[in-house]
Amino acid sequence: MKTHTVDFSRREFIALGGAVALAPSAAAPSKPWHQTVRRIGQVNFSEHDVVDADVEAWANYWADVKVDAVQINVTGMIAFYPTQIPFHKRSRYLNNRDFFGECCRAAKKRGIRVIGRFSPDLQWEDALEAHPEWFLRDRDGKPVPPFSRTPGLYQTCMFSPYYFEQTPAIMREVNARYDVDGLYANGWPNWHMPVCYCNVCRNLPKPGSMEYHERFMARAIEIWTLYDKIAKEKSPDNLFFGNLGGGYRTGLNIKQLAEKCDWFNADNQGRTGASPAWGASQQGRVAQSVMKGRTITNVTGAWSTGNPMWRNATKSPAEAEMWMAQTAASGMVIWYHWLGAQTGLGEDRRWQQTGRNFLQWHARHNPHFINRRSIANVGLVLGQRTQTFYRPPGEGTAGDYVEGYYAALLDSRHTFEFVHEDDLVPESLRKFDALILPNVALMSDAQCRQIEAYAAAGGSVMADFETSLFDERGRERADFGLARLFGMSKAGGRVGSRGFENSFYARIERPHEILRGFTETNWTAGCEWRVQVKSDAPPVMTAVGPYPAYPTEVVYTEKMHTTEPALVLREIGPSRLVYFPGDIGRTFWRSGHQDPLRLITNSLDWMLRGRHPLTVSGDGLVELFAWETSAGFAIHLLNMNNPALHRATIQRHSPIGSQRVRFELPGGAAPVKRVRLLRSEQPVGFTQKGRTVEFTIPKVIDYEVAAIE
Ligand SMILES: [Zn+2]
Repeated sequence: MKTHTVDFSRREFIALGGAVALAPSAAAPSKPWHQTVRRIGQVNFSEHDVVDADVEAWANYWADVKVDAVQINVTGMIAFYPTQIPFHKRSRYLNNRDFFGECCRAAKKRGIRVIGRFSPDLQWEDALEAHPEWFLRDRDGKPVPPFSRTPGLYQTCMFSPYYFEQTPAIMREVNARYDVDGLYANGWPNWHMPVCYCNVCRNLPKPGSMEYHERFMARAIEIWTLYDKIAKEKSPDNLFFGNLGGGYRTGLNIKQLAEKCDWFNADNQGRTGASPAWGASQQGRVAQSVMKGRTITNVTGAWSTGNPMWRNATKSPAEAEMWMAQTAASGMVIWYHWLGAQTGLGEDRRWQQTGRNFLQWHARHNPHFINRRSIANVGLVLGQRTQTFYRPPGEGTAGDYVEGYYAALLDSRHTFEFVHEDDLVPESLRKFDALILPNVALMSDAQCRQIEAYAAAGGSVMADFETSLFDERGRERADFGLARLFGMSKAGGRVGSRGFENSFYARIERPHEILRGFTETNWTAGCEWRVQVKSDAPPVMTAVGPYPAYPTEVVYTEKMHTTEPALVLREIGPSRLVYFPGDIGRTFWRSGHQDPLRLITNSLDWMLRGRHPLTVSGDGLVELFAWETSAGFAIHLLNMNNPALHRATIQRHSPIGSQRVRFELPGGAAPVKRVRLLRSEQPVGFTQKGRTVEFTIPKVIDYEVAAIE
């Protein structure tokens, strides 16, 4: 049973800036079409589908499930229409048929917008002789095949004229011939940052370096700007957008791209192997940190994502439903995606009913998915530079530092958001009572000063391990950039688990609120890696070990007591500061041990002083989102309980019992008229005392949305 008391922070009041009406506000200036979409549909056609596809059945399906727009293949490597552009190879099955045109007209007849899908990333060897400069090259100057190793197909280079001559020519041809509303590039920009040795790229900085990364981003933005300009040549309301999946692991600077783009599409279609279930909602939080309410889509693969993958077989309906639910809960637009149109709409047609059920339900409750702002009081800082350039000690990736805190925030049922490291300005941070820096190792001096300013304004901060130990270029500092804030300093190097030297502990030195629940023990499981630090404050916990784990005869150390802090706590006015010299987030993620989890969640409780805009009490692991919507407020509960929580695939939902909700309305909100549960489609009784609304959700099968009007 998890419970939290409810309060509304002082800074939350300030952020709201006065009264918030429950009713929809007076007519706002009308937004372009692409800022109002809620559902997108796509059947990704193979070259051969031109023979088989039933265009009328295709259009009828997408009209039936109430999508606002469809993706149709143009594409760049295979033309789905009788193109006149050299090297835009027509489908060998086209026979002068205009397949793209037929699909486009069928969609338009049903009032559905059309987005032309391009694949600028690949081209055939037919073009090698005439345009050797188009292709990505390896060290020996040879063209590079795609990961699929499709015979005769090679990767194109983003720094070549293929991107600023050939692709624009195709885009302009499509604009001239068809009633399209937007252009989309699949496979670009490639967030893996491809390495190329063509004549242009040979003169670029070393691949993998920060200088190369900067050139890559500048080029990506240049191309994005050009393609968007071409899209707008057709109509000012048209747009171009690229493919920005990868969550927080993307090598692309999403903050820079978000400043240029009106539509963030996350090609994050499903889980592979040992991935946690929350992949789509986490992607949503990542994208929201830079898009701030502008259109974000996340693709749900109705096909079987994973390894092995089946492109033409339907995935488990429960897994697909969960992915769409997370997409909706995190404030993104659902993009439902199937591959192949053999025998009309695919050999396997099971995907259709899954999409129909979810998308029609979603459309019935449309106003509750039009979000104005997210309500959350914890910020998790997204350190993209650290994710791209920092090499963690030991096994794993820099992502492990983030996942540990993410899992802990779910476990403790907090409402939280990602905050991008390049957005640590007071206007963005003001709403949060607490910030978490999950080993954000690379930080500029300016970013350190921003965190200090946040704390000086009353905000609380938690950080771990090597946070701020490197500058933004990855150069190690003599001391932490945030040493002054946390009242500690570097006293030695990294200490960590090596082979069987992996018994490490944190000794309890004196009572503290953060140690709540640690009884009948003198120490807790420690962190796998830590930085040796010193602090003038008397330590609450000290570090012990590591010492050997095998053989049992040597499992001890003569240094059972040290003065090295394992936890540094500080209070400055209302600001509470927590620094773990160990990699506590990652240790929790890798081990699943209850001690690092308890220390993280107890620390958050201490920092927040009981302030929670939303409290949901009940059994189970639930991911929460709270939004102010066009209809009032919406509380989203994602039921994460499933035997397949940490490994695909969910076969069936595992319902959880009653969940008690306490929600604090923003100041000035009108009295609540009703509360409805959208997923179970029933009203629910509620009480309102002052600004506090309380009600009970009797059961959550997969997902519930409580709409407060
Ligand atoms: Zn190149």
